[in-house]
Amino acid sequence: PTGSGGSAVPGGSAAQAPLAVLADAGLEIPVLGGATVRHVNLDLAASAPALEAVAAHVVKLLPYYSSVHRGSGYPSQATTALVEDARVSVARHVGARDGDLVVFTRNTTEALNLLATAVPGETVVLDIEHHANLLPWRGRRVVVARGSIAETLAALDAELAARPAAFLSVTGASNVTGEVLPIAELARIAHAHGARIAVDAAQLLPHRRVDLAASDLDYVAFSGHKAYAPFGSGALVGRADWLDAAPPFLAGGGAVEHVALDDVAWKVGADRHEAGTPNVVGIAALARALAELERLGDAEREAHEAQLTARLHDGLDALAGVRVIRGFDDADDRLAIATIELEQGSVGLVAAALGAEHGISVRAGRFCAHPFFDRASTRSNGLRASLGAGSTADDVDRFLAALAQLIAEGP
Ligand code: PLP
Repeated sequence: PTGSGGSAVPGGSAAQAPLAVLADAGLEIPVLGGATVRHVNLDLAASAPALEAVAAHVVKLLPYYSSVHRGSGYPSQATTALVEDARVSVARHVGARDGDLVVFTRNTTEALNLLATAVPGETVVLDIEHHANLLPWRGRRVVVARGSIAETLAALDAELAARPAAFLSVTGASNVTGEVLPIAELARIAHAHGARIAVDAAQLLPHRRVDLAASDLDYVAFSGHKAYAPFGSGALVGRADWLDAAPPFLAGGGAVEHVALDDVAWKVGADRHEAGTPNVVGIAALARALAELERLGDAEREAHEAQLTARLHDGLDALAGVRVIRGFDDADDRLAIATIELEQGSVGLVAAALGAEHGISVRAGRFCAHPFFDRASTRSNGLRASLGAGSTADDVDRFLAALAQLIAEGP
């Protein structure tokens, strides 16, 4: 694909300098009526296309990979090193402590399902969670979030004080509102009541640095495909003891020390839960994506995204007939995500028209957070726009203009 929209730099003008260059930046697509426009991807909270550097890394790896941990040949040795180096990089990226495990999974959903098999007791969650952090927990106790973060923290504190729980599992940021939760404060509350805490960082990690040691978190789960790596790789990182005591998540080769027909000695450590041939390319891509995010700079990405977030929300607030869904009235940090409901008309039709007529990808629905959506919205569906470090002010403006036009045209 070639760049367009008067831009010499793929993905935007030099003045807007995209901080993370996506492999799909500058993609030109046909729209209804025969024109061709630069694709505007405002669905990055669902999946973010790979960074160019990640895509190039994958292409370089494809001819060489081999099975891990078994072969004596060079490709197998190199592949094994690739996976183990990725483990070290992921651990470092998320501030893992000595002794913490990095278990590679397919995605956040799998990481949280694995963790749920290891928690020795009840888990408290908020009702704002994505289904991936709501459904896996056995002995689940749901606290309905309040209108402010401060009141919600107090409600969680009261719940844990009233009845002990083994675990608190919270999202780092809402995939509906983009609101960021104070994870270090949540960790303090959990630990004060003898509970451990996990953060579902599927949304947070691609946009804010998550640090287990600095925030005193016990576990973090995330997905590569939302962090500018391809599909199929994610990780659970955190304390080893419960994971070593849990039944192996998958039974099979690689997870065992020794097998007799009537006896099995399971390994401890990450291998215990990673039976079968791993997604070597996906794991390497995940580590490469995190390294690239580090290279691009946390502060630079945050500052760029904060500008886009303000532009997006200011624009939406100024549009008649649009209501932005909010969870908390005191959220002082939010990712570049906005979900809206419309006074009139169908968000599904508007989302379809944004794609077909304007070349703008968004998402309509309830975003796998049905309990929260049904509480926070007066409508059956919302429309979500979500951006990232490679997004530009022009992306936001095109979305706002197209949305205004579609609303003016009426249902
Ligand atoms: N948690 C949150 C907050 C999410 O936004 C998502 C995906 O949208 C998930 C978990 C699940 O991620 P995955 O589908 O990669 O497992």
